[in-house]
Amino acid sequence: MIDIKLIPKKVLFCIEELQKSNFEAYIVGGCTRDLLRGSVPADWDITTNATPQEIQKVFLDKNIKTFYENDFGTVGVAFPLKDEHFEIVEITTYRSETTYSDNRHPDKVIWSKTINEDLKRRDFTINTIAITIKDKKYEIIDLFDGQNDIKNKIIRTVNEPNERFREDALRMMRAIRFETTLGNNWIIEEKTEKSIKENAKLLKKISQERIRDELVKIIMSDNAKKGIESLRKNGLLKYIIPELEEGCEIKQNKHHVYDCYRHNLESFAYSVKKDFNFEVRMSALLHDIGKPRTKRGIGESATFYNHEIVGAKMTEKIVKRLRFPNKEAKSIVNLVRYHLFYYNVDEVGESSVRRLIKNVGLDSVEKLLQLRMCDRIGSGCPKAEPYKMRHLKYMIEKVSKDPVSVKMLKINGKEVMDILGIKPSPKIGMILDILLENVLNEPKKNNKRYLKEKLIELGNMNDKELEKTAKEAKKTKIEVISSEDKATKEKYWVS
Ligand code: ATP
Ligand code: MG
Repeated sequence: MIDIKLIPKKVLFCIEELQKSNFEAYIVGGCTRDLLRGSVPADWDITTNATPQEIQKVFLDKNIKTFYENDFGTVGVAFPLKDEHFEIVEITTYRSETTYSDNRHPDKVIWSKTINEDLKRRDFTINTIAITIKDKKYEIIDLFDGQNDIKNKIIRTVNEPNERFREDALRMMRAIRFETTLGNNWIIEEKTEKSIKENAKLLKKISQERIRDELVKIIMSDNAKKGIESLRKNGLLKYIIPELEEGCEIKQNKHHVYDCYRHNLESFAYSVKKDFNFEVRMSALLHDIGKPRTKRGIGESATFYNHEIVGAKMTEKIVKRLRFPNKEAKSIVNLVRYHLFYYNVDEVGESSVRRLIKNVGLDSVEKLLQLRMCDRIGSGCPKAEPYKMRHLKYMIEKVSKDPVSVKMLKINGKEVMDILGIKPSPKIGMILDILLENVLNEPKKNNKRYLKEKLIELGNMNDKELEKTAKEAKKTKIEVISSEDKATKEKYWVS
């Protein structure tokens, strides 16, 4: 049983218009699957025997705009909303795919005459059900008994799994994506699963962009931990983020109950449980990825000095490889880089908190605190946010209006050049860095009078002295937040 009322009017309208012009039209794929399992579909796909040109004509005759800008037969029908925005309903011509010689693309896409042929090229039985609506009644076409698999929560390929995965290796990852996102208790059918294990290495042929899109869906799902574990157990993770597997069986020291992989995974699981955003989830999953490569010693007293620096470099490679957007990628790397920041009430003063904000940015400080919670819980620590963290939040609030960047100084590069009568050069940056360092210690100093005085003092220094002072200023900036040495000694995760 499905509830026709869940189908949007615009979708019903498109089906009806195609039928009026004597074409067939079905809703198909994810939306019928979701309707049949009683959840509301996120997007709607219509398939038809009309060619792209015929689809366009049907709607242009009704003065409705269409878009056709791809090679896959998908035409967008645009319904105007307010403010020159459009709602797009996608309609795709029946396709059948010929041979696949590269494990990822059909050699050519050809339109097909019948719905049956279109259904046969699809990936899983649950995604292969077509429904058409006429006179408020619906009719289901279900060639591969997908309804039964939906009922039993089983993911099974259409026909022989080995063949289907060889045609397009991304389907292996999609199987796990569906197992993860469709909810608890979904399983991959035995033969399909065995075939994934055997063909896992074909994933190497798939573009990073397609892999990324499926990975993001797994990571943003409520069941994401199960998804990552399933990728690992089925042998796919080593073709997606092999660095994660380096942590398997790498024991940590006395402060941790889990091995490095499991610790990353449990931290990640907490980020999912708390519904933190993508950047926090991803950084939780990767935050200790540098540990296996920096481990020195064994047993209780093993150390992992600089793992946050090595980890940040590894993270940068991972997020670049997966072609994450720049801003997101930077933020993830930054979170991994600074995840060890040290904080203790009474011991770390306001100026250090300002330095923390200077380095990670006010926006990211909140995410960094979330990451710390995940890190603690992932170590098997019972409380995510002890007094210390609450106190740090208070301190952040307190200093959040203080100047923490060169831009916030009451003097700018041009004024520095004018006052000292010098031309643009790296010297200006050094001078501003030194001024900021003074202001970070004492925000009151952020006034023109003090800054000018200090500036003249700096102007009298020779290049060598200035360079040395700037270097020292830079050093203090990161001292407090990257002193793992200190953090380890103080066992910062024990409240
Ligand atoms: P979601 O609800 O997450 O969008 P979906 O099933 O709609 O899930 P899509 O990636 O949007 O997933 O694909 C739409 C449909 O196209 C699928 O249901 C499936 O029938 C077909 N399909 C998509 N990708 C493939 C593929 N790689 N091989 C075969 N069929 C595919
Ligand atoms: Mg979809």
